[in-house]
Amino acid sequence: MNRSSPMMEQYKAVKEQHPDKLLMFQVGDFYELFFEDAQVAAREMEIALTSRDAGSEEPIPLAGVPIHSAEAYLNRLLGKGYKVVLCEQVEDASQARGLVKREITRILTPGTITDPEMLEESRNNYLAALVDNGSNHYGLAAVDISTGDFQVTEQKGEGAWENISDELYRLQPSELLCSSKESEQLCRKQFNYKNSGLIEQLPHVPEPEETKQLIQNQWDHQTWEKLELGRFPLAASAGAAALVYLQLLQQLPVGEKHFRRLNLYFTNRSMIIDNVTSRNLELTQSLREGVKKGSLLGLLDRCMTAMGRRLLRRWVELPMIKRRTIEKRLDAVEELMRKPLQRKDLRNLLQDIFDLERFCSRLSYQRVNARDLVALKKTLTQIEAVRKKCTALQAALLKETSSIIPDFKDLVDFIDRALVDDPPLSIKDGGLFKKGYNEEMDELKMFAEESNTLLLDFEKKERERTGIKSLRIGFNRNFGYYMEVTKTNLELVPLDYHRKQTLVNAERFTTPDLQRIEEQLTGARDKLSSLEYTLFEDLRNKVNAYTEQLLTASHQLARLDSLQSLADIAEKNGYCRPVFSNNKKMTVKQARHPVVEQTSFERFVPNDIQMDRKNYLLVITGPNMAGKSTYIRSAALLAVMAQMGSFVPAVEAELPILDRIFARVGASDDLSRGQSTFMVEMQETAGILKEATPDSLIILDEIGRGTSTYDGMSIARSVLEFISRQIKAKTLFSTHYHELTNLEGELPGVKNYTIAVKEKGKQVIFLRQLIPGKADKSYGINVARLAGVPLEVLIRAEKILYELENAAFEANDRQLSLLPMVTEPVSDYSREAELLDELKELDLNRLTPLEALQKLYEIQKELLEFENDHSQKELDQ
Ligand code: ADP
Ligand code: MG
Repeated sequence: MNRSSPMMEQYKAVKEQHPDKLLMFQVGDFYELFFEDAQVAAREMEIALTSRDAGSEEPIPLAGVPIHSAEAYLNRLLGKGYKVVLCEQVEDASQARGLVKREITRILTPGTITDPEMLEESRNNYLAALVDNGSNHYGLAAVDISTGDFQVTEQKGEGAWENISDELYRLQPSELLCSSKESEQLCRKQFNYKNSGLIEQLPHVPEPEETKQLIQNQWDHQTWEKLELGRFPLAASAGAAALVYLQLLQQLPVGEKHFRRLNLYFTNRSMIIDNVTSRNLELTQSLREGVKKGSLLGLLDRCMTAMGRRLLRRWVELPMIKRRTIEKRLDAVEELMRKPLQRKDLRNLLQDIFDLERFCSRLSYQRVNARDLVALKKTLTQIEAVRKKCTALQAALLKETSSIIPDFKDLVDFIDRALVDDPPLSIKDGGLFKKGYNEEMDELKMFAEESNTLLLDFEKKERERTGIKSLRIGFNRNFGYYMEVTKTNLELVPLDYHRKQTLVNAERFTTPDLQRIEEQLTGARDKLSSLEYTLFEDLRNKVNAYTEQLLTASHQLARLDSLQSLADIAEKNGYCRPVFSNNKKMTVKQARHPVVEQTSFERFVPNDIQMDRKNYLLVITGPNMAGKSTYIRSAALLAVMAQMGSFVPAVEAELPILDRIFARVGASDDLSRGQSTFMVEMQETAGILKEATPDSLIILDEIGRGTSTYDGMSIARSVLEFISRQIKAKTLFSTHYHELTNLEGELPGVKNYTIAVKEKGKQVIFLRQLIPGKADKSYGINVARLAGVPLEVLIRAEKILYELENAAFEANDRQLSLLPMVTEPVSDYSREAELLDELKELDLNRLTPLEALQKLYEIQKELLEFENDHSQKELDQ
């Protein structure tokens, strides 16, 4: 074997078609990788790198894994963002003349996984196709082949890219394909992918005619007409491009309506939450660790099924804006909350329901085995029980569930009659079906059993004939049936015995009679397993015909599960049902931050929220750690929860229906994107000023912190003015610029609040209570003390603060009363410190009285000089 052996030629031909993927090439019982692929595989899968032809001049790097344990290795590669091509032997090596025929059997990419072992159950796994026409017009398709979810959307005009990238952020596709180099580049900048190969250009973007054809072939003519896809050419084009890509990967089941529904959606039909807001509010993942735990979703998710979990995530990401639909969900949540016993029963039933949605997907790829079908039977029985429970409930959505879930009795009976309760994993070796399911099968089984008796009779007869009492019939894979005779009895063996195999202590024989029985037996067995396989395929097709109904049930169960989850948490944590006002008021009694109240060690102190047409811009000051961020976020979280149909952590809540929420945090460290934090902050702020409406909620947490005091405060102030006069959106603005509290009474809508603290000596106690008014000081040093900063530094800081405040006062700059920049005075003060040190170090014993007087004079002079200097500087500013 060398570089130009026939097999290597075959390998290279396949590899050429897929240079960007790892090629796993079946050689006997192994998948082998060669050349660079071998090096990558050895590194990523932690397996040995060897070589073919080690002795030759140009050995080929080689890494291999046994096929039977390949799955785990595949998972690892996909998890790390690689794409893998499996090329397998498609004929029996022993039958092959010359080179064994090999074909690509699967192409696995992170965006097209269907194996449940490889997927996270609580979230969709999307492949996304992004199409743009070069003039700010985008189409996006997101496809989850593991659930059959296929959605497309379109955006054009100003803000189109921002909206599309927010969608991409929300969907977090594990593979993203773009129609142009430009959008590919934009996406690369914006999203961190584990592997650069996961953002790529689309292999083919179909023209309009072809697009229509592809969509109509995959769905039908009505779909095109009903969705008016002619009016949304880029959404359609993205959908078609995704189909083409799936075809290339051989991931589109032929002749199957795998993606039952094409879903055309628009982001403005739900509350818009851009990705910065989503991150800052920690809706689906925590800021610090980037995981679900610690997020709003993590808190609300008390779902019992995978389908429910995935749906609840969407609810959190896409709160509703139609009052009627919100109230409908709230009705259902309320009923389930008020009926804890029924809810508990439902939860118990739901717990045993498997991932029906992903099951349906595997079904259409013919990747289910007999065990899956037995599991389906159990799940269907469970679903029927759930349906019955729901008939006793009143809320519209719950009633709907009980009437829409189809009756699966026939299917259950059918599977029950067919399959044994504990079938083997493999569907090729028989043992799958119950007796009575198929006559021919039963006959074959009977025959096999009879042959067994035949064999026993034969053994008995031979013992008698030969007189060898220990003669016994056995079976082994390579030699088939034999009669074993120990060495001591060999002289009793008759002439018609043919030797088959020699062991240490015994010899194995056969006879023409035994061969005949053997042929009958193995023939029957082979027939049986191939019959069972065909029967299984039939059965699978029968189940496949139920897919539509199964998916309907799955969607109902997902919703029911999400609703009970919200009810469960509402009862557990004492939430109230929100009321929506037409007068755009936000009046909340005793609001709490849903996540902080669960995680903080101290007792959570609730606070009211009051915003209306007169007071819509709350400026909140208070020392660090007082609870400003927590308070303003709780307002936003309440709004999200209410509009997703959840109860809210408060005693009473009257809320407006918001069109979108913005949450920005000053100077968030976004080093990963390599932009200066201040730049990021300003870009984010600019976005708000362009897009917010009077129906939006804006959360600004210490905006302007990322630059020098003057800059920061000026920007903060002008942003406030703009919101107050132009946008009039409800705004919660926390700031450490106390000067901004001067705006109350001057700017329309502004109202000052502060979070109370109590001073006890040098200690500061956080009361966590929101009160009208402004903070009198910032207690930064007290907080530093709490944090354990050394005493020496604290004393020095106090002194500097004192000097600074006096200086500012003297400067008579009360209108803005800005603090002077700290850098200058600090350097002066350090000279002062030096003079003090000099004084301390003066050895009086070595000085004459006159020298001492001289020194004292010098020090005093310098001190006086720079004091004058200093106040002059303040006046100059
Ligand atoms: P700030 O933004 O004013 O610096 P934070 O909102 O970050 O303060 O709050 C600091 C910590 O105080 C929080 O992590 C939380 O543990 C606690 N906290 C905040 N608000 C409350 C409250 N209302 N009741 C109890 N603890 C609170
Ligand atoms: Mg804060």
